[in-house]
Amino acid sequence: MSTPSKEKEVKKAPAKQEEVASVKGMRDLIGKEYYDFQGFMEKAAEISHYYGFKPIETPVLENTEIFTGSVGEGTDIVDKEMYAFKTRGGDQVALRPEGTAPIMRAYLENGMVSWPQPVMLYYSGTFYRHERPQRGRHREFRQFGLEVIGSEKSIGDAMVIKTFITVLAEAGVKDVVVDINSIGDKECRGAYRRALLAYYKKRLPQVCADCKNRFKTNPLRMLDCKAEQCQPIKKAAPDTISYLCPACKQHFKEVLEYLETLGIEYRINNALVRGLDYYSRTVFEFITREEVIEEGKEPTTLETVIGGGGRYDYLAKALGSKKDVPGVGGALGVDRILLLKDLVELAPRIIKKPKIFFIQLGFEAKLHSMAIIEILRKARIPIAQSLSKDGLGVQLATAERSKIPYTIILGQKEVIEKSVIVRNMDTRSQETVPVEKLAEYVKKLK
Ligand SMILES: [Zn+2]
Ligand SMILES: [Zn+2]
Repeated sequence: MSTPSKEKEVKKAPAKQEEVASVKGMRDLIGKEYYDFQGFMEKAAEISHYYGFKPIETPVLENTEIFTGSVGEGTDIVDKEMYAFKTRGGDQVALRPEGTAPIMRAYLENGMVSWPQPVMLYYSGTFYRHERPQRGRHREFRQFGLEVIGSEKSIGDAMVIKTFITVLAEAGVKDVVVDINSIGDKECRGAYRRALLAYYKKRLPQVCADCKNRFKTNPLRMLDCKAEQCQPIKKAAPDTISYLCPACKQHFKEVLEYLETLGIEYRINNALVRGLDYYSRTVFEFITREEVIEEGKEPTTLETVIGGGGRYDYLAKALGSKKDVPGVGGALGVDRILLLKDLVELAPRIIKKPKIFFIQLGFEAKLHSMAIIEILRKARIPIAQSLSKDGLGVQLATAERSKIPYTIILGQKEVIEKSVIVRNMDTRSQETVPVEKLAEYVKKLK
């Protein structure tokens, strides 16, 4: 029997260098970029801890219905952008396009409903959307998120916004404003929906094809339209706030009062609805403003959305919970934030800039070098070294190039004498230090 497929396989040429590539829209984090992400996430986690949030990590893969049932079919995220596929076992799964639905799933599945309420959680991780890649917008992107689940009180909304604002301030993000709106609950949304439909019905010939569809499937999402032709119509559309029921109005008023008391700058944005099905009442976005000065032109302000969120009092039921579980949360788009100018450099805990370059000369020294490194590690002194280099000159040159202020030199003689040489790279002066006094000695170095 012939096996044509196998023959083909054998003849296949080895992959060429240029064929080695990551998936489009996804990238490796290396060096400074890795540390920048790590540093930001650690700072955000630390701040969230102070505000009472606890960590959670959910899987990158979820059952697809977690998103179709909550984010909503007919949304861009679910219809166009979600990486959804069938496994070999026949399960329908999706790479998470957002964080809130999985966390509500985890809350329900793990019985957190019996914990003291509300349950306050923070998370960070990668998320996936098949969008057109552009600056700050990747198909694998990183978010830091917060959720307050199990309370409908307005202080939850304020707590989430305040914690995010603190994170942004600590990261050095300047001129942040909160765009905020209330889209009401099931009490008042019916009346608003009718008003919106009546308004758009007369203008249907002028709107884009997507909006014609949304008119039938989910009219609220017409307010989210980015098409040029829909902008003037959108602008003059009835606003949700005018249709809020007394309970929603009170809730929104309280959220704004918190923000005022906390000194958080906000703008009520009637067009803000955020295109996810599960939102109710409060929706918000964080926006940074940067002044752009081009020669010969008036300075303009560039606004960038760097995060957002909202209240999701109906999400739990959409996921199959028998009871309503109110909640509020949001997420920061860390990829976009780290592109901003003049950020504070947040060093992650694992990285301390080494102040010592460790040089070992000869096999004896290499044998003993691990013991010396361990002494330094216990004293929390990170080092740099070049394991494969043998000569003193070449290792000193590497230390010099890396701008590391001190070197520790361990040669055969030092191994026998149980000492090392500590050299100041700047003054080129050096001193022999007994190994047992090394940690103490090094700690005193500037
Ligand atoms: Zn439109
Ligand atoms: Zn209402």
